[in-house]
Formats: sequence, C-alpha cells, structure tokens
Amino acid sequence: MKILTVVGARPQFIKAAVVSHVLRQKHTEILVHTGQHFDYNMSQQFFDELDIPAPDYNLGISGGSHGEMTGKMLMEIEKVLVKEQPDWLLLYGDTNSTLAGALAAAKLHIPICHVEAGTRTHSRTNPEEINRICTDHVSSLLLASTQSGMEDMAKEGLAGRGQLVGDPMYDAFIQYSGKKNIADIELQLLNGGTARVPEKYCYLTCHREENTNRDEDLQEIFKAMESLDMPVIYPVHPRNHARALRLAEKMLLTNIILAQPVGYLESACLVKHAQCVVTDSGGLQREAFFAGKKCVTILPFVVWAETMVGNRNNLASPKAEDILAKLQLPQTIDEDYQPFGDGKASEKIVAAMENAERK
Ligand code: UDP
Repeated sequence: MKILTVVGARPQFIKAAVVSHVLRQKHTEILVHTGQHFDYNMSQQFFDELDIPAPDYNLGISGGSHGEMTGKMLMEIEKVLVKEQPDWLLLYGDTNSTLAGALAAAKLHIPICHVEAGTRTHSRTNPEEINRICTDHVSSLLLASTQSGMEDMAKEGLAGRGQLVGDPMYDAFIQYSGKKNIADIELQLLNGGTARVPEKYCYLTCHREENTNRDEDLQEIFKAMESLDMPVIYPVHPRNHARALRLAEKMLLTNIILAQPVGYLESACLVKHAQCVVTDSGGLQREAFFAGKKCVTILPFVVWAETMVGNRNNLASPKAEDILAKLQLPQTIDEDYQPFGDGKASEKIVAAMENAERK
C-alpha cells in the first residue's frame, strides 16, 4: 500500500513516530509536514529524537487565522494528493492540518484513516472539536483510542466505520519515556540561562486558547502555582511566550521555572518524575495517567473521560482556589484498569488499513 500521512503539530509527530516505524516495514509512506509547528523544539527535535523519517513535502504553512491556515493547507495538500495518488490518507488527532487533509482527500475520493477518531469534548466553542467532527464524518476508517470514542461515534451514526485500536500515545510513552535520565535534563530558561530539574516539582503545561488568550486566566493559574510548596516547571508553548514573560515580571514570580519547550523524551521523563501535573493538554493528561501521577486539567470540558477516575484527573476552572483544591484530592489507582490499550495500537492501526484494503 502507498499511504500518505499528513502531520503538522507536536502531538502528531509523536503518534506518527510509533505508527510510521510499523507502517514502513511493509508499506510505502509519503510524509507531508504542513509546517503548522515550525520552531526547532516544536518540530525538528521530535523528528531527530524519535527517528521520524524526513518529510517528503514540507508545506511551510503556519500562523494566520484558523480559516486562512486551513485554507492554504487544503490547497497545497490537494496538489500533493493529486500527484502521489495514495491508497490511503492517514491523519492524526484534531489540528487544522488534520482538517485540511481530510477535506482535500474526501473531495478526491481518497479513503481516509483517522487515528484518535471519536474523541469529543461536546463543546463547539473548542476549535479542535470542529476539526474532529468534520474529519470523522468524511473518513472511511475511524480508529478510536478508547471505548468512549467508540460510544461517541455511535451517537453520530459512525459506528459502522469505527474500530477500537488503543492509543498510540500510550505506545509512545512505553517506548520512549525511559530513554532520558532526569539528571541529564538541562532546562533552557525563557529569559536566557539554564536550570537543572529540582528533586520535587510540579509539571505545568498550558497553551490552549481557552486559558491563554486573557491575562486574567493565566494570572490565576500562575497564582496557584506560586503557592505550591514545590517548584513548578513550565515549558512555555511559543504562542504564549510573550504573555507568560510579561505576567512573570508583573507578578514577580519566584516559584515557576519558565522554560523553552522541551523535546518529547524530556517531557515524558518530566512527567514520570513529577509529584503532580497541571495541564490543559490532551496529551499530558493521558501521560500523567500512564505514569500514575495526579493530574489537574484546566479546561471547561472533559477530553479523556477514562482518566477521570479515583481523582486521578480532575477538571478545574482557571481559578487559583479551584486548582489548589483539586490538587489536594487524594487519588486512588487500580493497576488493572488500562483503558488506553496494550501498547500495540500502532500495529492495530496498520492492520486495520490492511484489512480494509482486502475487503
Ligand atoms: N510535550 C513536549 N514538550 C513540551 C510540552 C509537551 O514534548 O514542552 C509533549 C507532551 O509530553 C505530550 C505532547 O507534547 O506528549 C502534547 O502536545 P500538546 O500539549 O501540544 O497538544 P495536545 O496534546 O493538547 O493536543
């Protein structure tokens, strides 16, 4: 089979890494990078560390409004699809790169395989929700990471095209989270200089539009982090650098280590050794769960319901009091509960395409 994969953002590089290694054992993969994430530590570092083959096409499209970015990607991906004529278009997750790929392939009658299908926040104000819904409805093969994804697909009449394969993020965490030694990590500070990882710390990531478009919300999150009895490591997403630095200065922060984004090997290692995780990331909340670390997710909606058991992951509003209260709740872990599969999602994803091709 000839499979054309479109990626563009950090979490997609991680998923594509594990799947691509399996895929290329038997099939031809053409890799298209839209350019949505482009800084070295948001893109190339992942290709280097996770041994992802260099993209065959780099479209160099980033920034602008959602419509502008998606529209430009749609035009360019269409050209590549017409030229390459793949048997499948393989898409991951819920970014603008995912949506653009889906729209381009659907109009060309190229079958689409969507990994992480069925994931729903049930909030139409969440920009990624629109990408998920549209992509699922035009895809031929809908591969869900969890049972709740299957259930949400069924509610939208998509069950016939759905299969439960498990979560390739879990595969990646198993394969890569032990590859870095915590003592070797050198954090690059946002305002210059470096820092070592403290013995005890809370790991914070926060970059969603919902939390970082207004000073008030990020300020409340910082207020909560300042009052913790351990330092907080916060690798700041590029879209949020200026705001984070300005607020850090204004609030005279002393407890939060503002760092440049780290690579995946470092991030997974930081999750493993953290006391707790505070995040608005879909990936980080699952990784905290994989590592058995207490997590507070600052979002107005549930993304990964499976993690929200035994106080392992609780939602908080961007209010200091709420974040701190949720961090206090003691978690209980049932070791037998493994809702994200068996670490072999990548094999199942490739097998699902092979089986569909045979029909
Ligand atoms: N991550 C990383 N470096 C960082 C912050 C996060 O490698 O500085 C990883 C993290 O471990 C997770 C993924 O990036 O695997 C999450 O990506 P992101 O938060 O950008 O997207 P989301 O998961 O919310 O779609």
